[in-house]
Amino acid sequence: MSQPATVTPQPAPTATAKVIPQYVLEAELDYGRHFLRVNQRITYFNSSAQPLSELALVIEPNRYVGTFRLNSLLVAGTETKEKVLWQEINQLRLPLATALLPGESLEIVIAYELNLPSPQPNPATRPVPFGWTAQQTNLVDWYPFIPPYREEIGWLAHQPGYFGEHLVSEVADYEVSIRIKDRLNVRTTAAAQPLGPASPGELTLAASAPARAENGAFLFSLSKGRSFAWSVSHLYTVTAAQVGDTTIYSYAFPAHDTAGQAVLQTTAQALELYQRLFGDYPHPTLSVVEADFLDGMEYDGLVFLSKGFYNLYQGTPTEYLVAIAAHETAHQWWYALVGNDQALDPWLDEALCTYSEKIYYEQVAPEALPWWWTYRIDFYQPSGWINGSIYDYTAFPNAYEAYRNAVYLNGAKFLEEVRQSLGDEAFFAFLRQYAETYRHRLATASDFVELLKTFATPELETILQKYLR
Ligand SMILES: [Zn+2]
Repeated sequence: MSQPATVTPQPAPTATAKVIPQYVLEAELDYGRHFLRVNQRITYFNSSAQPLSELALVIEPNRYVGTFRLNSLLVAGTETKEKVLWQEINQLRLPLATALLPGESLEIVIAYELNLPSPQPNPATRPVPFGWTAQQTNLVDWYPFIPPYREEIGWLAHQPGYFGEHLVSEVADYEVSIRIKDRLNVRTTAAAQPLGPASPGELTLAASAPARAENGAFLFSLSKGRSFAWSVSHLYTVTAAQVGDTTIYSYAFPAHDTAGQAVLQTTAQALELYQRLFGDYPHPTLSVVEADFLDGMEYDGLVFLSKGFYNLYQGTPTEYLVAIAAHETAHQWWYALVGNDQALDPWLDEALCTYSEKIYYEQVAPEALPWWWTYRIDFYQPSGWINGSIYDYTAFPNAYEAYRNAVYLNGAKFLEEVRQSLGDEAFFAFLRQYAETYRHRLATASDFVELLKTFATPELETILQKYLR
């Protein structure tokens, strides 16, 4: 922040709360042809103090060749398709005929088609959750969205890295209607849908929110969500558990019933624990979906866990299936509720989620805690500054390992040292206060550090200097 040269009068604070973006999506999926047709309306409010002469749109599906086709784009009722400027492969700019003034809103209506890709594993890049496989179709980061705008910086929109996440999003309200073309036999979380394995020919739809069935479509409302994700498969077996007001659904592939139950149980235990420590989980459902790709991945209200963890599961807590289920559950606080710039400050969510695994083990399965330290953390001899961006870790020959070892694993060691220094009471008070203060917002690294310093101990500066560049 810089000092203004002249003093300008400040507008009086008003009682109106900041108005968040509204996304209304109508999607029709052809499951057999891997094709999605979407009509989307975005209502965007300029909540900054500056007039905006253009808007940014992040369109992740455009990263995949032949996938995204824009049919029309109306900005405040005017067809603007020919005027859009692709800035990067995953983002465009919409010039506005008249600037959007602070406090004003604007409607964007987009019609598009997605010819879904079928990602092949590539050792040079991270696994891709988006698209279809023989087992499932995953619609993640599938719709254009307006990234956060910061007066000092501009649009918080980044290019993909080779690994790590690069998207930054504000919380928004979502109304999503999903229709599965030519398929009558579809089940989802709408009441009276039986659990258990799918019957022959039946599809199962998992999503970030519970469903209501209406006229052959399923309607989903997600309030103040960081993202809306969904997944469809002809193979899911569904189990459910209740934690307070939240229903947890576990979607697993055939022959993974035991692992699917373990995921359900771990997620339920982790949700109960993290609510107690970090504050309420805000949604009525949380879905955990077995992934036909080799990674875990978080979205708001829905997370994926790799089939690799299910395949290896032996029925004990000393396994990645359990550790990563706890990790992905923790992302509902560190990523979804408390947002961060995942490209520039990945440690803010990843170090906290990795350390939340430790908290899970010490509370729920303390006998497995030594395994966790030894095989999840120390085995990799973690080192390196924890607060680099996803573009900063370039160590040869394995940049991804350097990234994970620093951000996730050394990040967990950092938080353990902070906790030893503060003591449990102050450490958990800090985490709760951080979660409360930045709930539904985006936290920066300096927000985290400044709040931590209010719990200062003599050693804190030394610990910060040891881990943070
Ligand atoms: Zn993570």
